[in-house]
Amino acid sequence: MLKTHGCGELRPTHIGQVVELAGWVHRRRDHGGLIFIDLRDRSGLVQVVGDPSCSAAAHAVLDEVRLEYVIQVRGLVRRRPAGAENPNLPTGEIEVEAHEVRILNPSRPLPFSIDDDGRRIDEAIRLRYRYLDLRRARMQRNLMLRHQIIRAIRDYLDARGFVEVETPILIKSTPEGARDFIVPSRLHPGKFYALPQSPQQLKQLLMVAGLEKYYQIARCFRDEDLRGDRQPEFTQLDLEMSFVDREDILQVIEGLLIEVVQRVTPHKRFRVPFPRLTYVEAMARYGSDKPDLRFGMELVDLTDVFQESALEVFRVAVQSGGQVKALRAPGCAGYSRREIDELTAYVKSLGAKGLITLAFTGDGVKGAAAKFLTEGEQAAIAERTGAGAGDLICMVADAPETVAKALGGLRLFFRDRLRLADPDEFAFAWILEFPMFEWNEEEGRWEAMHHPFTSPMDEDLDRLETDPASVRAKSYDIVCNGYEIGGGSIRIHRRDVQERVFRLLGYTPEQARARFGHMLEAFEFGAPPHGGIALGLDRLVMLLADEPNIREVIAFPKTASAVDLLFDAPSEVDERQLRELHIRVVREDQG
Ligand code: ASP
Repeated sequence: MLKTHGCGELRPTHIGQVVELAGWVHRRRDHGGLIFIDLRDRSGLVQVVGDPSCSAAAHAVLDEVRLEYVIQVRGLVRRRPAGAENPNLPTGEIEVEAHEVRILNPSRPLPFSIDDDGRRIDEAIRLRYRYLDLRRARMQRNLMLRHQIIRAIRDYLDARGFVEVETPILIKSTPEGARDFIVPSRLHPGKFYALPQSPQQLKQLLMVAGLEKYYQIARCFRDEDLRGDRQPEFTQLDLEMSFVDREDILQVIEGLLIEVVQRVTPHKRFRVPFPRLTYVEAMARYGSDKPDLRFGMELVDLTDVFQESALEVFRVAVQSGGQVKALRAPGCAGYSRREIDELTAYVKSLGAKGLITLAFTGDGVKGAAAKFLTEGEQAAIAERTGAGAGDLICMVADAPETVAKALGGLRLFFRDRLRLADPDEFAFAWILEFPMFEWNEEEGRWEAMHHPFTSPMDEDLDRLETDPASVRAKSYDIVCNGYEIGGGSIRIHRRDVQERVFRLLGYTPEQARARFGHMLEAFEFGAPPHGGIALGLDRLVMLLADEPNIREVIAFPKTASAVDLLFDAPSEVDERQLRELHIRVVREDQG
């Protein structure tokens, strides 16, 4: 090694020792004769002093170095002069008197400073020079935290008899509701591999293979339009168990999350056991299947109050099978016209036709709609929502899905506006009993809400063909602070049931065999009952790191338009490569 110690490791106990250090010049100050360098390596910073009266040669080299030069220093650890200590630095009581300094590699001036958290720098430039961006303390901390989380996960699962198995990346389509990335085969002209959207089928086959408890830190690939905070490739903690029911999976994951949080971010608070809500309950109370449970502000159903209302929007909505729901924003009765307009624009952006607000004040109920509401209606609103003087009631009347989306969104709007959520709390919760199928309006067919290998609930199985909309799945999501951090299910393990589900999803028996014949066949060879889950590791790390998006916890992420700015990928390949792959590129604009 070119060093005896890490820069950040030195303490008063090292005083009097001659040490060798190697790292980057983080800061440099020239104080008339004395040169001070903050030398940085992964372990932290230490102050190095170039004093010509100690070593003229060392001082001369330090005079030459610039930011981010890589240098090696041999020197004496000494106590800093009284008054020069830096209490903010773990090495702040000492400094290193340079005796010999060697430049290992100079550096060009940097495109941006790395001496801050980087939040103000254009992200495109950060990603273009990611290897420099990753030098900043915040990013080093995030990568370290990610490592610790993965380690805690491995320790926990290893202690419980799970086996880590790698599964292939070149495989066949594994439906998780997204588009596949496909890879042309050179050896088999006209044929393609697909990159796994998840190892779903592979882990199920490992259960048929008798592994009983599997996990993998697995890379997944989904070619989606990158809405929101997504990446075309991302990492899951993927897990599967045999001979289990739902409760077993929930217990394993609950224990795992508790262990990870306690080990890695012990200052965070959480509630155990994790609360459980059915999908129907979560949608009704929070307007979301991934509710943020750090605060209340539940949606209140007023539909029955407005059956005969003089307020037309309410009456029409109710009579056409819609809902009227409300939420109470405490202390917001004084909102200005402009603020109300902002709320209205927001719910409209979520698909609602409008927002009706009522301000409960010391002298009555105010708001454009107030005069259309009877005293009885006003009293019912106050009673159901608990509104008192000073509160603002926000109401939406629409189809149930629209009401949920609008008020669920508004609830999060108020969370941020009124700072209702404790940033040091992780409100984990389980969402259970999702519908098995969703109707795809555009394509006029049923889709699996989770994936087609999910088992319907036993008591609903009879209605699979007759009333698919009412069939619930043995699936579960784990949510935290408004994010879905994982989901899974108990699987189908019998061929006949799997075939019924494929049929309902619109596959002919031939199509089902062509795509999933390997699964159907495997189920005929003594497939054990099994189930599992996958946690989105990037999102989990993001939450534990208190970061606003997953790119901050991925070493080399892609942009929102799926581009790697450092490697400039995707990029063109040469003609010969294309020919070998039997591929011809036809651009739309060239016909
Ligand atoms: N494969 C599923 C997913 O990626 C998770 C699971 O069902 O285990 O969402």
